[in-house]
Amino acid sequence: FLTGKRALVTGSTSGIGLAIARALSAEGAEVILNGFGDKNEIAALCKELGATHVGADLTTAEGAEELMAGAGDVDIVVNNAGMQHVAPVEEFPVDLWNKILALNLTAAFHTTRLAVPYMKESGWGRIISTASAHSLTASPYKSAYVSAKHGLAGFTKTIALELARSGVTANCISPGYVWTPLVENQIPDTMKSRNMTREEVMNDVLLAKQPTKRFVQPEEVAALAVFLCREEAGNITGSNYSIDGGWTAE
Ligand code: NAD
Repeated sequence: FLTGKRALVTGSTSGIGLAIARALSAEGAEVILNGFGDKNEIAALCKELGATHVGADLTTAEGAEELMAGAGDVDIVVNNAGMQHVAPVEEFPVDLWNKILALNLTAAFHTTRLAVPYMKESGWGRIISTASAHSLTASPYKSAYVSAKHGLAGFTKTIALELARSGVTANCISPGYVWTPLVENQIPDTMKSRNMTREEVMNDVLLAKQPTKRFVQPEEVAALAVFLCREEAGNITGSNYSIDGGWTAE
């Protein structure tokens, strides 16, 4: 149902962004990938999806402008690129605070401001941002990430109101812990440092806050992104959808 639509997914060379890119492509969208990674792997992904790739660094306004110039007019923007750093506030490296705010929040401002004129003109658009359970609740030592994700949820509500009469919707998807290579790769180190079994690390550390005790799958996040692109979702705007196994219900 997305044939003829062009979709930009930031941070789509791995994890959740890649799953969203695959799902939008499966519905017929022409996908523009963004993100870092191995040249050959990215070329293979482009071939698999019939996609193009713009590798711009979204921590700067120039990078975001380069991405949007390379992408051209897009009907769907998925703001997904993000990064994390964990440290007590008094020790939080200033450069990492600035980088996290730039990538997880400000990049969405840049992609949106540059994508919206075409979307308004065509009378249809979808802006979807991967926020996080941390857009609704906090955890210690994640001050930059929690601030940026709360900001992203607020930004989304604001643009939803501005665009309410234009056929363009803006929504957030807020996952809990998602099973990505990033999460999987933490397990061996945590097993060693805490002297725990793989099962203990999964249940008592990673899934401590997730009542279902199951990781969210990237494909589940992607399925919701696809739904938000449907015509039936045209009246869903300014919303923040949790997929967090009950985390933020507690
Ligand atoms: P990931 O590390 O697997 O992927 C991140 C993507 O962003 C990669 O494609 C990477 O190349 C790209 N990227 C990194 N820095 C960039 C930059 N400066 N400019 C452009 N692209 C850049 O991460 P993921 O787990 O798939 O997370 C994707 C999004 O989902 C993030 O916004 C993250 O905060 C959010 N999220 C993840 C989880 C989780 O458990 N994995 C939970 C909630 C929210």
